[in-house]
Amino acid sequence: MERVLITGGSRGIGKAIARKFKEEGYEVITPSRQELNLSDMSSIEDYVLAQKYQQPFDVIINNAGCNDIHLVEDITDEELLGMINVNLVAPIRLLRGLIGPMKKQKYGRIVNIASIWAVVSKAGRCVYSATKNGLHGVTNTLAVELAEYNILVNTVCPGFTLTELTRKNNTAEEIAQISKDIPLGRMAEPEEIAKVVYFLASKENTYLTGQKIVVDGGFSEK
Ligand code: NAP
Repeated sequence: MERVLITGGSRGIGKAIARKFKEEGYEVITPSRQELNLSDMSSIEDYVLAQKYQQPFDVIINNAGCNDIHLVEDITDEELLGMINVNLVAPIRLLRGLIGPMKKQKYGRIVNIASIWAVVSKAGRCVYSATKNGLHGVTNTLAVELAEYNILVNTVCPGFTLTELTRKNNTAEEIAQISKDIPLGRMAEPEEIAKVVYFLASKENTYLTGQKIVVDGGFSEK
């Protein structure tokens, strides 16, 4: 059975990705924050060490992320370093620790979840956009570095997505207002992001690597 590691699988887009892989018959590993705290470098090292005696992952989805929205002059050092660590440093450390066995088995798929704010931007997203653009830089390099091992690496950039958090942070009127700016006239369901991630990470994908796939209902085209 193929094994997939999904970070941030407790809710939102990560939960939908986990559900999709389960439906497709994968062994799905979604560590809780207690098992793998991406803000804590020693937690990442411990997690990587514990994988040494396990079957290698066939698929790694770097999905967990955080987004503190502030104008540049209001960003605290804690928020700056927190976002850089979770959104950028942690995926690199995780891949650094887990890529060896994937290379040995000469098969792997990696999907990094960035954001529409790595395609266009908006006030208040300085650090978030920087980290998500940085994450796509990881995709660019690893696509080249790992191609000879039959490991394909891509970035998915979700647009506005109707997760529990989006519903909590926005009223129905606000969601309707944002939807007016989206050519398809609505936000994405998490499942619509999950099926694109699944394709990129499946055996069906044999030639697509190093790409930024934007799933935003046409938002960034306006
Ligand atoms: P979410 O509902 O905010 O959930 C975030 C997930 O990341 C949770 O599972 C959370 O775990 C985990 N996480 C955060 N910090 C962590 C840490 N230090 N250690 C371990 N796990 C941590 O996420 P989402 O909205 O579904 O977004 C998923 C990804 O898509 C993120 O990378 C986000 O930037 C990106 N994205 C989202 C949208 C959107 O509209 N929702 C749009 C574009 C891009 P806990 O349960 O332990 O908190």
